[in-house]
Order: sequence, then structure tokens, then C-alpha cells
Amino acid sequence: MAELFYDDDADLSIIQGRKVAVIGYGSQGHAHALSLRDSGVDVRVGLHEGSQSKAKAEEQGLRVVTPAEAAAEADVIMILVPDPIQAQVYEESVAPHLKDGDALFFGHGFNIRFGFIKPPAGVDVCMVAPKGPGHLVRRQYEEGRGVPCIVAVEQDASGSAFALALSYAKGIGGTRAGVIKTTFTEETETDLFGEQAVLCGGTAALVKAGFETLVEAGYQPEIAYFECLHELKLIVDLMYEGGLEKMRWSISETAEWGDYVTGPRIITDATKAEMKKVLAEIQDGSFARNWMDEYHGGLKKYNEYKQQDSEHLLETTGKELRKLMSWVDEEA
Ligand code: NDP
Ligand code: MG
Ligand code: MG
Repeated sequence: MAELFYDDDADLSIIQGRKVAVIGYGSQGHAHALSLRDSGVDVRVGLHEGSQSKAKAEEQGLRVVTPAEAAAEADVIMILVPDPIQAQVYEESVAPHLKDGDALFFGHGFNIRFGFIKPPAGVDVCMVAPKGPGHLVRRQYEEGRGVPCIVAVEQDASGSAFALALSYAKGIGGTRAGVIKTTFTEETETDLFGEQAVLCGGTAALVKAGFETLVEAGYQPEIAYFECLHELKLIVDLMYEGGLEKMRWSISETAEWGDYVTGPRIITDATKAEMKKVLAEIQDGSFARNWMDEYHGGLKKYNEYKQQDSEHLLETTGKELRKLMSWVDEEA
């Protein structure tokens, strides 16, 4: 059973007694910096020259310095720049200023798990990863709620790294919702697998294949769009509220029967065997290496895939249909 931690298990005064640098002010960065500040923590934001978000951070009352200055001033450094550039930002701006007793924090384990960042032995290495997008992390905090977080310690130089990480999680509202203890390895591997096999890759491919099957059989693209993409949200909402059982309670008996007999013909033993291969490539580091090569090689294939999908009939059909449903955008 997972170990869970709530507000009473975390001591906010620990992080209040430290100097925190939040490097990056994007989705996660702005949420962490603002909520820590509102929790009474001494925060500075580290941003590169020409940063798009500098003015916004300053408007919101935060002090912005360079990443190197932030790392030099602080003794807890949270790295919230995009994963593919973290190693470079770390080498150039953070590593030269790390002292024994400092703590290095991450919102995702990618760079530590795959060895792109190798911190010195004298610093704590922790992760506080909210299980939700940054804008929700901030909104929930302001509403007196929180987004659940997972917390891990990779290196416990001080002997009290976990208490520090829990305290940080409390500062962004995480312990209001619940914090689960994990490891950098578990977080990184399950996160990559989930987004590739199920949440993003698996779902996008399933939707596209279903849409194409209907359109190729001569059905109207608009009908196929509603059937294969639009309704997915309604089904997933039911699963989110009450698991597969609630979804099956709500759909017709005919749909439920089709679910039982057809689902396993779509996601077959071969699909699951491929999922195991995908997981193995995540675990052995080859996915991470390929992605870093693609990123630093100028994102050629990435941009090709992006372009191809933006021209897909599913997307062009959806764009037109959503214009007629003014509320769809607002729900986001
Ligand atoms: P974003 O892409 O939203 O934000 C990146 C920020 O980094 C921007 O403020 C950008 O500046 C800044 N930046 C870019 N280059 C540099 C640099 N050289 N030096 C300093 N700052 C720089 O990132 P996310 O918030 O999505 O991701 C941050 C981390 O959080 C990642 O590890 C990610 O895996 C993790 N995470 C993200 C989640 C999410 O909700 N998005 C969920 C859970 C974890 P600017 O734009 O101003 O130029
Ligand atoms: Mg991810
Ligand atoms: Mg139906």
C-alpha cells in the first residue's frame, strides 16, 4: 500500500526557514513560486535573458534574477525549465553555485533517472511532482485546495531530505490533497509509459484509427468526429468519477455488451506485448536518448509529425464543429 501524507504530516516551517529559487516561470514554475510566496516562503525566480515570462513574474510581485544569481542566493533550487534543457541550465547556472547542504529539487525525474544531471554528493536531491497541470496547481491553492503530489528523495545528504520535500509540497498545497511517496525511477518510468501508451499516444492513435475506419467506410466525417473524439470526454468523465463500473452503469446494455466482446479484439495480446516493449525501452534509457537526440538535432521528425496531424481530417473537421459549440472552449 502506498504511503500517504497530509497537512498534519508536514512541517511548513522547514521550507519557511530556507531560501528557495524557482528556475523557470512556465506552467509549473509560476504555480510553485506564487504559492510558496503566499505560504510565507522566501522565493526568487531565476529566468534567462529574453524570457517571455519575466514581466509577468514581476507584475505578480516576485523578484526575478538570472538562474545563476537565483542558484547562488538560494539553498533550495527547484528546476522547472523544460526537461530537454535542464542539463544545460544545470551545468551553466546551477552546478557552479551548489554548496554542501543545499537541496536540488525537480518536478519530474527525467534528468536524474537517465543520468543527464549528476548532482554532487553533498546536496539533497528531491522531487515534488504535482499530478496536474501548473495552472490547476495554482488555482486549487488559491481556492484553499490542492493538487495531489508525488514526492521522492534520490539523495539524502542532510538526513532530513524527505521532511524538506514534504514541507515544500505543503507550501504549494499538495498535502491538502495528499502526497504519495515514490522514487525518481518509479515516477519517471510510469509517467513516460502512461503518456505514451495510454493517455496521449494510445488514446490519440485509437481515436484516429476509429475515425479513419468510419470515414473510409463512407460515413460523414462530422458523425465520425462526434462518435470517436467528442464523446470520449463524456465517457472518461464517468470513469474518472467512478471507474469502469460507473461508466458501464451509465451506458446502454448494448454498449456494455459491445465493450466486453469488442474491447479485447482492439487491444489484443499483441498490443500488450508492444506495451511491454515500450516500457522496456523507457527502462533501458533508449527512449530518453532518442528523444534528446531528436530535440538537440532540431526537432525535424517532431515537427513533421505535428504538421501531418494538424492536416488530418479529424482535426480539420473538429475545428469547424467546435466553432458551433461555443461552450467547448470555455470548459478547458
Ligand atoms: P514550461 O515549458 O511551461 O516553462 C518553462 C519555463 O522555463 C518558462 O518560464 C521558460 O521561460 C523557462 N526557461 C526556458 N529556458 C530557460 C533557461 N535557459 N533558463 C531559465 N528559464 C528558462 O515548463 P513546465 O512547467 O511544463 O515544466 C517544468 C517541469 O515541470 C518539467 O520538469 C516538467 O516535466 C515538470 N512538470 C510539468 C507539468 C505541467 O503541468 N506542465 C506537470 C508535472 C511536472 P520563458 O517562457 O519565459 O522564456
Ligand atoms: Mg510527462
Ligand atoms: Mg453511441
